[in-house]
Amino acid sequence: MKSEWIILLRLLALQWLIVLCVSKDFDFYYFVQQWPGSYCNTKHSCCYPKSGKPAEDFGIHGLWPNYKDGSYPSNCDRTSSFEESEISDMTTKLHTDWPSLACPSSDGLRFLEHEWLKHGTCSESILNQHNYFQAALDLKRKSNLLRVLKNAGITPSDSKSYSLGNIKEAVTEGLGYAPYIECNVDASGNHQLYQVYSCVDTSASNFIECPVLPHGRRCGSEIKFPSFSGMHEEL
Ligand code: AMP
Ligand code: AMP
Repeated sequence: MKSEWIILLRLLALQWLIVLCVSKDFDFYYFVQQWPGSYCNTKHSCCYPKSGKPAEDFGIHGLWPNYKDGSYPSNCDRTSSFEESEISDMTTKLHTDWPSLACPSSDGLRFLEHEWLKHGTCSESILNQHNYFQAALDLKRKSNLLRVLKNAGITPSDSKSYSLGNIKEAVTEGLGYAPYIECNVDASGNHQLYQVYSCVDTSASNFIECPVLPHGRRCGSEIKFPSFSGMHEEL
């Protein structure tokens, strides 16, 4: 009788372990893309990375695990470190698609390290470092944001303004799901398209309807989409 109890207890412990292992520690990701023109023309300006001025395209800011209640985990594994060797096969692509614009100018690795340690480690049980960065690059390619906006006649311009509704509509049409648009303010005080948030499932491969929208900086109904190609750093 006693040994049966022990077996039962062991089975229960095993079941609990399995539940712990497969349970995910977040509900979905925000995939955040950033318009470099709007990072660089604010009061604090920016510095181009050592690899050169990024192309006029959206850059990745991050892939952030989030909870449905609007909160999010961060810095989940203090023992984890950022290993350059894990991303050696995609360094060039990361320079292009996930450029660092912070000052002073850098090789961009600090920004990637920051994103990995703050956000990436919170879904480490699903995506290791290599797969985390690869997933973000794949999502950027899939979303093709600049093309999606161009198709709707929305192109970077220093003179025009665009309706926030039209921008949302174009992205919804292109990606299949409504985005969250975050604005910031240029040096003259105009609201402008800064970041586009899309929601992604826990496998980091499919766009989904957002379970909850972030509470970031909101936009006015008419916003700028400043060009980046003619812009110089250190305004
Ligand atoms: P903000 O003050 O909105 O620019 O956010 C500053 C930083 O907080 C971001 O760059 C993110 O690292 C983090 N953050 C803000 N909102 C979220 C979110 N919903 N999920 C994950 N990280 C977030
Ligand atoms: P997180 O908190 O994870 O998003 O990261 C926010 C930090 O990254 C803040 O200090 C931002 O100023 C900075 N940041 C945002 N975009 C960029 C970028 N393109 N290059 C470098 N740093 C950035």
